[in-house]
This record gives sequence, structure tokens and C-alpha cells, in this order.
Amino acid sequence: MKLIRLRIENDTMAIAYHPVSGQAATANYLIAYNPNQAISENLENIKIRLAGLQFDAAILENGLSYPFSDTIVGVNYDRIDVGLALTNLLNIPVVSQAAVDQLGLTAAIKAKSAYLKWHLDYYGQYHGVRNNGQEAMLTIGNGYLGLRGAFLESHADKDNYPGTYVAGVFDQETTTLHNHQVTNEDLVNLPNAQFITFGIDQQPPFQLNEHDLQDVYRSLDLRTGMLTTTKLIQLASGHQLRIRSQKVANMRDWHRYSIRYQVTPLNFTGSLQIYSEIDGSVINGNVSRYNVFDQHHLNTMGIETAANTVYLSGQTKSSRINYTIGAKLTSPDVPVIKNFNSTQQPQGVQQTVSLAVEAGKTYTFDKDVVIATSNAHDDPQLTHVQAELSQSSFDNTASVSKDYWEHTWRTTDIKVRGDITSQRLLRVNIYHSFVSSAALESGQLDASVGARGLHGEAYRGHVFWDEMFILPFYTMHRPELAKQLLLYRYRRLPAARKNAQAEGYAGAMYPWQSASKGDEQAQFTHLNPITKTWDPDNSRLQRHVSLDIAYNVWFYYHVTQDRDFLNQYGMEMLLSIAAFWISKATYDQQTGRYNISGVMGPDEFHENYPNSTKAGLKNNAYTNIMVAWLFDIITTFKAQMPQAGFQKAAQAAHFDADTSHKMTTIGHKLTLEINRRGIIAQFEGYFNLPTLDFQAYRQKHGDISRMDRILKAEDKTPDAYQVAKQADALMAFYNFDVPTVQAIIEKMGYQLPSEYLTHNIQYYLARTTHGSTLSRIVYAVLNQLDDNDDDAWKLFSEALASDYYDIQGGTTAEGIHLGVMGATLNLVTRNFGGISPLGTHLQVNPQLPDHWQTLKFKQLFRGVHYVFVIDHHRVTVTADQPSTVQIGNQQYQLQAKKPRTITYND
Ligand code: BGC
Repeated sequence: MKLIRLRIENDTMAIAYHPVSGQAATANYLIAYNPNQAISENLENIKIRLAGLQFDAAILENGLSYPFSDTIVGVNYDRIDVGLALTNLLNIPVVSQAAVDQLGLTAAIKAKSAYLKWHLDYYGQYHGVRNNGQEAMLTIGNGYLGLRGAFLESHADKDNYPGTYVAGVFDQETTTLHNHQVTNEDLVNLPNAQFITFGIDQQPPFQLNEHDLQDVYRSLDLRTGMLTTTKLIQLASGHQLRIRSQKVANMRDWHRYSIRYQVTPLNFTGSLQIYSEIDGSVINGNVSRYNVFDQHHLNTMGIETAANTVYLSGQTKSSRINYTIGAKLTSPDVPVIKNFNSTQQPQGVQQTVSLAVEAGKTYTFDKDVVIATSNAHDDPQLTHVQAELSQSSFDNTASVSKDYWEHTWRTTDIKVRGDITSQRLLRVNIYHSFVSSAALESGQLDASVGARGLHGEAYRGHVFWDEMFILPFYTMHRPELAKQLLLYRYRRLPAARKNAQAEGYAGAMYPWQSASKGDEQAQFTHLNPITKTWDPDNSRLQRHVSLDIAYNVWFYYHVTQDRDFLNQYGMEMLLSIAAFWISKATYDQQTGRYNISGVMGPDEFHENYPNSTKAGLKNNAYTNIMVAWLFDIITTFKAQMPQAGFQKAAQAAHFDADTSHKMTTIGHKLTLEINRRGIIAQFEGYFNLPTLDFQAYRQKHGDISRMDRILKAEDKTPDAYQVAKQADALMAFYNFDVPTVQAIIEKMGYQLPSEYLTHNIQYYLARTTHGSTLSRIVYAVLNQLDDNDDDAWKLFSEALASDYYDIQGGTTAEGIHLGVMGATLNLVTRNFGGISPLGTHLQVNPQLPDHWQTLKFKQLFRGVHYVFVIDHHRVTVTADQPSTVQIGNQQYQLQAKKPRTITYND
């Protein structure tokens, strides 16, 4: 094993390189700590100094002995978990000399690697959006509720935001602003019941501040869903305490979550008070730019207290959803229940308990919380909440959560050998995908997954096309869950029809932003903060969202072959969506083709033509390709379905023979603009727009990802340039494979020259700023399809860490980006693993990144459970039933439960 040994002092970092462990170092480096640089820059110097050397692990000689981490050291009069930092930087485990002495080198490294792959840890106190981003990443939840990973002792302020959300609980408020009435529908931040703090000797309750908080370590255990926070506190009075708190959501009885709060006085004997609250005075305040709007959504209606339990009930202001929240405080150290006191506050309720404590002893307080609402099949009646609360305990919640996650990891884990960072972040993404959705699988809720999960308030909890990026993962692991997301859309088909009708179209036009009812929740105008004028906001013209929903219906059916779903719901959705596009397409006498106008593609920098009064664009390539695909798929399904089933769906969708005829005529005659090199214009007229000098803008602004804002500040518009926020013209290549898209384009009557894919990718990459987290991951897939592995890897690894590093500089604070998280899972199995579910059999064409030794995952396809283990030469596949997989043109028969190893050319 190749090692580096580190000794990090306050002002120097000593490194020894041991190409053979146990033998003398062949190189030694002493790097002076540069106090003028950030810690990260100093650590980067280690990386630079070690460039070109190979090593598998690092041993830290002088780690401090903390209960939560043994790789913390003092540097430049501060403490840092150098283990965490160097693992991020060098992608190796960092073990302490103490662990090596205790366990032996190999076992210490193994234990540390295993730990790192299953934990998301943060050391130290952070401020502002940095801390808010960590709160989002440390969110616990179960798809019914989401609870940001804020400090329990915090109320909302500039550093902390303890948000609580319940799927589907929205409320609308109208604000008059600059003579304009603006109505927003928000995913409601419900009363904060996670609050708990302590006090000593009847002094005021502890409030978070950096003087008293000596150390804090937060660790989310992805295997169990348990968030543990350990704080070392020294109060100005000299009292020293250790506080260990744990928080976990119940993954089965999803109304419940539990907290364990443990206080250890370290240097005093005296009296300890515990203060616990349900705070009903909260507002939606996570996104500061929304603060100009009315963000008050709650009316507290009643408070009940009984022994050690308290209840707060209320109603959302306009949607009138009732909610009741109950909290029960218990402690093995306070056996007499009547010692718990409750006090009603104007908009909340507090529980307190006081007890005599001794130095060195640990005192434990459990807070069990139940939240219920009147939304969908939920029941907020006090008796229901009381009953749930009486059954709830921390240990039960923890054990149910552990069982759920154990099962979930057994079936959905993606195992990577050879890359600790990717392994951990893939698991973080899988974890959040279920935090955002688990309970939806029950069919008892009426919600889908919001673009930002149940993790924050950006985009007001709304549901976008982002569903498309996560749905494949759900479909191939939890098809029932995927189906429930589709049913959320099915139930909103009448609203989508109304949307279409209101604009003079037939069929169903799904809204760009969907919330409780399925009407359009995107704004029509937005306030220009500089000019204080209201400018049009055309983002709702991203009508492709209906096509993305159609894709989801198709994908779900294709993978599951759930005929009942197709007959009862799916076909009606596809036909209703198709009817909309048929009514939107117009015939062009001159070209003999059909046009679709007044739309936007996924690239939000292009809302309309410069100097045009008309909203939207003509012949967006992604839209037109997807429409052509939809029409084809309907024809295929029609041939496969029982005629009675099709007729029933057609009737429900008002899809008559005439419409059907039009569909056949229009499908292959939609317009694309393709130039001689085979570049597919994002929309008609795109080639006439000038390009921008990205280099010059980068030099001036550094980060140009939001070029729209930069240009607007210069009084220009991105509409006027060839500049894209994200992948658009080439999006269909992300959805399908290259031959499929090529076939669609050719059927539309266009020929593509050889090398067209490479040219298109290069062309659009040079014009894209990746202002959306959905951009890099799509281009990673495109590059992978084009055998450009290096660029694919670079874009993938940036996308994988989007939220971990908050690469947009503050947006993770307002919720995770579920779309990109889901898309990374898709890329790993479909592209790196090369297991494509797009054909009638699973197709196998692995392209593992060089440094990944093996990749292992399960996948469900057409009722068969597969396990894949992939290395650079072999794929071993096991199916639970006889089935067929395809490599190249060759089909391989699998026998039930018999692993079959197939060699492939790497
Ligand atoms: C992206 C959209 C996305 C939305 C919600 C925007 O920034 O441009 O493609 O749907 O965020 O995630």
C-alpha cells in the first residue's frame, strides 16, 4: 500500500511519502502555512506538492482525540477536520495514527473508508447561506414530511432556517407590489416543532452563538437516516457541556419524527432546564428574494396541553388546510410526568422541565413529534394525532427508519469500488431522492416531487419537468412510487385541459410550474429590481413540460409493462397531450411543413425573438422532436393495445378520428432547422443571432453561469445572442439513445451528416453557461454517448457534487436540486454501467470511468430483478427469472438466479 503521513501543526504541514507502507519515506515535504490564504487553498498546496505520486491513504499523526472525529487538528489558530477536507481533495481515506495503533493499518483504513462512504459530515459552525446549504443537505424526511437539518436550538435568523414541509400542503397569498397584484402559491413552512434547547441554573435559555459553541460536528448516517449533532459548549459563565442530539424521521408511520437530546454537564453540578417548543409563528422565509411578498401562511387556531404532551392546531390562510402538530417530551431522568410544565404562547406552546444535574452524567430527553394535515387522505383530528403520539417513541422511530433504509439500500444502492467521493455522493443522492418521496408510494398522498425536494422553499415547492430526471431511478427500483408521481399528473389532467382551453387549444397543456391544483403557477411578469418595472416572464411557455410528462408515462410503461396503467391512465394522458400539440401546429404553405410557435425550449435564456412583440419562439428543436416522437409512440401503442381500451382512452381525451388523422399528417412534417454541418438549430432563426465573447465576460465577471443577469445589467437581453443556460437542442439525445433520435429526425425528412453529434455537442457546449444544475449532467451524458470520456467525467463529477459544494453559490440553501441528483444515478447505471433500459431487452455496453474498479447495482426491468457487477472487462449479471440481455447484436439467455459473466471490450 502507498501512503502519505501527515503532521499538521499550527503553521506548518509536514508530509512524508511512503511508496511502500512500513518502509522509509522516499520524499519529505514541509509546507509553511500561509495565513493569507484560506484553509482550502493551503490544503490545495499539499495536493500540488504531491502531484504525480500515487497513494492509497493518508495517516494523520497528530489528530486530536474527539468523540466524533479523530482527524481534527489545529491550524492557524483554528480547528479543522483535515481528514474530511483531504478526503474531498485527494479522494483517499485519512486515518489517525491512534486508529492505526489500535486496529492495525489495514483495518483502520477499511473502517474509515466504510465510514466515509456512508456518512455526510460537517465540522464547525458556518454562517449564512453556507450553513443554510448544509441544513438542506442534512434534511431528514420520508416523502410526507421534510425537516431541514437545522440546529435544534435555532429559530429562523440570518444563519439558521429550521423549515418543516409536508408534501402537497400549499397556500396562496396575494401581495400588492408597485401597483401590481402578485399571487404566489407556496409549499408551506409549517410550525417548527423541532426546537429544543437548555438552560443552566434558571439563566436564560441557550442560544446559538459562536462564543459559546466551542465545537460542533454534524453527521448524517445514510444507512439509517439518523442525523447526529455533537456540540461542545462553554458558556460565558464557565459552564461546560456536551450536547448530543439525534433526529430521525419515521419512514413507515410517516406522520412522525423523533429527537433525542442528551446533555452532559462537564464541569458543574447544578440545575438544568430543558425548553421545548412548537412554534406556530413561522413564515416562509427561506428565500430572501421572496420576502417582498406576503409569506405568512399560518393561522394558529388552538393549543392543547396534557401532562407531557402539547398540541398546536391551525389552518393555512387561503387553502384552509387544517394541521395539528403534537409533541411529547419524555426523559428517563424525569420519572414524574407532572414535572413537565407547559406554557401557552400567543402562537405556540413551550414545554419546560427542570432537574438537578451532576458533572459527568448524561441526561436524556426524547421529543416525539406527530404532524397531520387535512390534505388528501390525511387526518388532522386531535384524537388521531394523540393516538399516533402515544405509540411513538424515539427508539421505535429509529428502528423503523433503520429497517426502511436497510431494505432500501439492499435494493437501490449503487456500489462503486475505487472512488470514495463518488460512492458517498451517489448515496447522498439516493438518500435525498427517498427523503423527497418515500411516502408517496403509499398512494395516500396527492403530491409529486418538487424540483427542490422537501428541503427548502426555492421555486416554492413547485413541480417542474425535473420529474423526468428522477423518474427513471424510481421506475427501475420502486415502480409503484413512479406510478404515484404519474397519477399526481393524471389527477391534474382536467386542469391541464382547462389550461389548454384558456389559450385556445385542444387537449391538455400541463403547466410549467405545478403545485396543488395543476393550474399554472409560473409568474406572468417579474419585477426588474433595477428599473422597478414589471417585465414579462415567459417561462411558462416551456410547453415541453407536457412532452416530458408523456416521456415519463412512456418510460414507466416501457420498463414495467403495466398495462392497467396504460389502459386506465397513461393512454388518456398521451392522447390528451398529443391533441394539444395537434391543435398548436400550423401548416406552412411555403415549406409544406408544420410549425410550432410561441414556445420556449428548456434553455431559459431564450424567451422570444429580440425586437419582437410576440412571446416565445418558433420550431424549438427539442419540442418538435419530442412531438414527432409522441405521435409515433401513440401509433405504436394503439397497435399493441386492445381496441376497446384505446377507444375508451380516446373518448376520454376527445381524440377523434379527425384528430388521429391530423396526427399522422403532422408528425413527420414538423419543421427543424439544420445547417450543412448538421447543427440542429435550437429554434428557427437561431443561426442569425450573434455569438458572445465568453472569454471576455469570464475575465470581467469570473462566473458567467447567469449570463442572463449579466447581460440584463448591461441593458442587453440574452434573447439576442447564441448563449444558453442549459442543454436544449440536444435534450432528446439525453432522453433516448442516439439511433432513436436520429431515426426520429430522419423520419421527419432530414438527413444528418456523419460526425453530426460531435459537431453539435461542441457547438452547443461552446455556447452554454450551465446556469442550471440540469445542464452539466445532460452534457455529461451527451459526451459519454459521443465517446468523449474525459469531458463526460468532468461534467459528471461537477454535477454529482452540485449540492455538496453548492456550486451555484447559495442555491442549495433554498433546497437540494433533485433533478440533477436523479440524473447522476441515471448516468451511472445507463452510461457508465452501460445498462440501457430503452430497448425491449436490457442492453449492455459498459464504459466505466478508468479509476472505478467495479460498479454494482440492481435494476428492475419488465418484472425481472437484475443484479449487475461490472468491471473493465466483464459484466456479471444475475436475474431472478429466465430472461435475455443484449450485448451489441448478440442476445444472451439467462437462467433464473444463475449468474452469467460476459466479457466485453472495454
Ligand atoms: C431550470 C429549469 C428547471 C428549474 C427547476 C431552472 O433553473 O432552468 O430547467 O426546471 O430550474 O429546477
